[in-house]
Amino acid sequence: MASLALRLTENVPGDFFVDSTCIDCDACRIFAPKTFSDTGDQSWVYHQPENEGELLAAQKALISCPTASIGSVARLDMRQALDDLPELVDDDVFRCGYASESSFGAISYLIQRTDGNVLIDSPRFSGPLVKNIDAMGGVSRLLLTHQDDVADHAKFHDRFGCERVLHQDDVHQRTAAIELQPSGIEPITLGNDIVMIPTPGHTKGHAVFLYRDRYLFTGDHLAWSERRGHLHAFRSACWYSWSEQIRSMERLLDYRFEWVLPGHGRPVHLDPAAMRASLERCVVWMKGN
Ligand code: SF4
Repeated sequence: MASLALRLTENVPGDFFVDSTCIDCDACRIFAPKTFSDTGDQSWVYHQPENEGELLAAQKALISCPTASIGSVARLDMRQALDDLPELVDDDVFRCGYASESSFGAISYLIQRTDGNVLIDSPRFSGPLVKNIDAMGGVSRLLLTHQDDVADHAKFHDRFGCERVLHQDDVHQRTAAIELQPSGIEPITLGNDIVMIPTPGHTKGHAVFLYRDRYLFTGDHLAWSERRGHLHAFRSACWYSWSEQIRSMERLLDYRFEWVLPGHGRPVHLDPAAMRASLERCVVWMKGN
């Protein structure tokens, strides 16, 4: 629970507040951008919710905060927010909320498919979320982009019996039991509508997942930069090899997609030509950094 005693002084007066335990993961700013903003090192409430939509979004942010750093002075009726996660992004793609601190608040996604639902990266294994995912059809596959975002993978596997997928180069002791551990840098087809594309760089075994040639789930490999106005990569959070990550980014130019759904940052939707142009700018930018 967030602590009023630790309430950041930057918060504007009102019910919602962020306390000093915030790890600046960005999740609240994704779910409720009209309420939460960035002080530089942490989030703060810059605008208290003023209508039902803003209140619901702020409640989802509160639920999704990985460190329980968001609080409310007043007692809230959270039922609607609890019912509304996972939250629709587009078509059959949802974002789960319930970010995990062990994944530094990374966003995980759920695809609701007739051939079996797919979870991309692991959210917190939380009762209300698990109940909602069960009602949506459960999970048949858990696709893990890299070693840092595995969170509660074992609990989801035990609950839903889902097959887990993680590149062999990112498998360690706590993920040794993962069922499918592809290797190398060649793309791997997973069913008729998902391709796993190894993208070493951020970590050695990082991979992205392309769904229906439309949605690219990018983990920590690729995201949108508001400041630069194009796709970019996290230079200061590249743990394995920046030069490898550039080569991985160039290989993505072989693919067509319209959406980038990152672990950290907002989803971005562009037409395929604009997306490709932005990816080309990203590669140029990476080579200069
Ligand atoms: S979700 Fe929580 S930890 Fe993440 S930025 Fe917001 S307040 Fe901070």
